Amino acid sequence: MQLEFKNEPFTNFRLPENKEAFQKALDKVESEMGREYDLIIGGERIKTDKKSKSINPSNTTQIVGVVSQADQALAEKAIQVAYETFDSWRKVEPQARSRYLFKAAAILRRRKHEFSAWLVKEAGKSWPEADADTAEAIDFMEYYAHQMDKLAQRHPLTRIPGEDNELYYIPLGVGIVIPPWNFPLAIMVGMTTAALVSGNTVVMKPASTTPVIAAKFMEILEDAGVPAGVVNFVPGSGGEIGDYLVEHPLTRFISFTGSRDVGLRINELAAKPRKGQKWIKRLVAEMGGKDSIIVDNDCDLEAASQAIVASAFGFSGQKCSACSRAIVHQDVYDQVLNRVTELTKALTVGDVVNTEFYTGPVVDDKAYNKILEYIEIGKQEGKLMAGGEKGPEGGYFIKPTVIADLAPDARLMQEEIFGPVVGFTKARDFDHALEIGNNTEYGLTGSVYSRNRAHLEKARSEFHVGNLYFNRKCTGALVGVHPFGGFNMSGTDSKAGGPDYLLLFTQAKSVSELL
Ligand code: GLU
Repeated sequence: MQLEFKNEPFTNFRLPENKEAFQKALDKVESEMGREYDLIIGGERIKTDKKSKSINPSNTTQIVGVVSQADQALAEKAIQVAYETFDSWRKVEPQARSRYLFKAAAILRRRKHEFSAWLVKEAGKSWPEADADTAEAIDFMEYYAHQMDKLAQRHPLTRIPGEDNELYYIPLGVGIVIPPWNFPLAIMVGMTTAALVSGNTVVMKPASTTPVIAAKFMEILEDAGVPAGVVNFVPGSGGEIGDYLVEHPLTRFISFTGSRDVGLRINELAAKPRKGQKWIKRLVAEMGGKDSIIVDNDCDLEAASQAIVASAFGFSGQKCSACSRAIVHQDVYDQVLNRVTELTKALTVGDVVNTEFYTGPVVDDKAYNKILEYIEIGKQEGKLMAGGEKGPEGGYFIKPTVIADLAPDARLMQEEIFGPVVGFTKARDFDHALEIGNNTEYGLTGSVYSRNRAHLEKARSEFHVGNLYFNRKCTGALVGVHPFGGFNMSGTDSKAGGPDYLLLFTQAKSVSELL
């Protein structure tokens, strides 16, 4: 264990030895395709008749794994086990809980390429995107372990003579963890381990398109010795068990990352007390984004254009942080648009199993059809500059797409598409650009390219997003460096990877003794 938290470095795939090691990991994972994965409740592996197939989105004939699906009876069992286990887990010393995370992080670091290879296969991530996802998972565990150690220290209260006063951050209880498919390792690991290191027990329902990587992570928790019942693995459909878990009277909190609509539904269901429920449920939600890069007339136009392309098309735009709107000052609009178009046309799309292609597929047929529909809407609302069509057959490939000359209130500029599509709109001046930047119901990330100090300072206070970046891209937040989470319909502004995050999974108890 390091004394201070340090981010896990990314792998340099230009080095032949790294390329070779990754290829080996891919071969290993390839030989394990199509295996079966069970539920894990209280350490017991449970097979069900109902199964779901996880498909490789780059090659839809390949089955990554076959996963048992929980029904309501098994969801009930998982909550009961988590509730019983809470009584012992909450009494485990905080530092001892941290040690499980340091151990799990060390195991994941040893199996790093193998896990990234699963991300290539199950989520369609390119090698560098997969590597960054795994590095972030390691970071989350080590960062939260350090944070728990800090939270367990004596807190600086005002001391008065004749009394001994202490403040303790104690766990909440049973948490339902519902992670997303787009960072199926990092965010799933971050949400799960933040809850457990804080002393809670977890019922984790992995995303239905990426359950295998979550099942692999359960192996790591078991190897690290996390006691049975602390994290219960319950894959299943939202319709069948999602509401059931959220509504359960023994559920104390819900940690959710996903779409705005599902987040709002969970918020509504969680708000209603159920028979036998003794608390107000807490919701920690990270929802959508409709994120902008603002380009001022005085800035490095080449850097801005590169950033728009990287933020819009990395992992085919399937990040809540992705740039889906370029808001460009009228003086430089044509220049930036033409450069972004040129860069976008040079991007390649295809099976990410090797490094030949810049980006891979979108996650599933639902996403594929929805994005293609939005592209048609974009062609009506604006002018198609690049892409605008399907990529190669065999997977859910869509060409990176640029649509120009959109009105700020066009659907393409307001609705979250979650795919490789960026819209351009022209701003009269910097104030107008900021006004457009704030005109959605979301507020997750945003970026401003400018050399004008006064403009940057204005954006610092007026651009209402949870993660604001100046003269850099709007994706790729690092744990501990850029605590991540947004305003408004982007969620509860929980800052994953930030110093306040664990507080969301605890409650403070003040104890005062007269001496
Ligand atoms: N933290 C990621 C980033 O900064 C995005 C996470 C997400 O898409 O939910 O790019």
